[in-house]
Amino acid sequence: MRRYKRRKFCKKWVRLSLFAILFFLAIFTFKKGIDSVTWAENSIWDILQLGENQADISDNWNLVLVNRNHRIPKDYEMELTELSNGQKVDSRIYPELQAMFDAARADGLQLFVREGYRTSEEQQQILDEKIEAYEKEGNSRIEAEKLAKEWVAVPRTSEHELGLSVDINADTSISSSDSVYTWLAENAHRYGFVKRYPSDKTKITGISNEPWHYRYVGKEAAEEMEEKGVCLEEYVELCKQSFLETERQKRRFWWTIRN
Ligand SMILES: [Zn+2]
Repeated sequence: MRRYKRRKFCKKWVRLSLFAILFFLAIFTFKKGIDSVTWAENSIWDILQLGENQADISDNWNLVLVNRNHRIPKDYEMELTELSNGQKVDSRIYPELQAMFDAARADGLQLFVREGYRTSEEQQQILDEKIEAYEKEGNSRIEAEKLAKEWVAVPRTSEHELGLSVDINADTSISSSDSVYTWLAENAHRYGFVKRYPSDKTKITGISNEPWHYRYVGKEAAEEMEEKGVCLEEYVELCKQSFLETERQKRRFWWTIRN
């Protein structure tokens, strides 16, 4: 009788465990179905940290999406070019960046790259300094970390670590910041750059308006983003949708031929 009871008890646990495994598999499949493009790039750890996918670097390098939820892979590599003031950028964006600066200077503006490429270590240092500053103001460590992360990106989530973004400032002895920001907002897309964190997209990007932060996405994407009024998060999603639609159409086409 006791053995029978124990067997029944064991069966119940096996059934419960199987149900739990199936339940988690279903959740994973659902989540990854939505975000299938980044699936192949994720490590088990990344998957377990729900919402912290690794940035997809398999497709167009110029459209790599990096934000709080899309981290730069640890082995991400790029070739850098050093600017005259010591700042560095990904070599692939240098010609367009130079062309943009030449055009702005021809229009009488004086501007410079205040911040280009940053290593993960440098990003960590900036974050640590910000945390320390908040602690000195009397906040607890946890509070200070929370406050600092509202302003400074966690390492591997800053676009500066890609080398594709630049913070552009005015040489204020010659030009006003406003005149430089206005010129960039009107012209940067012609050179493949977009204002990455516009004021009307803060809910999507999670970052406040930064009129100085420009991201290279290539001329075609920049023109399209400008025309549609979308930010990079929205644009990448549109590209995914149009890719999926093309695949669906292809499948429909072959289905029609076969039948
Ligand atoms: Zn920046």
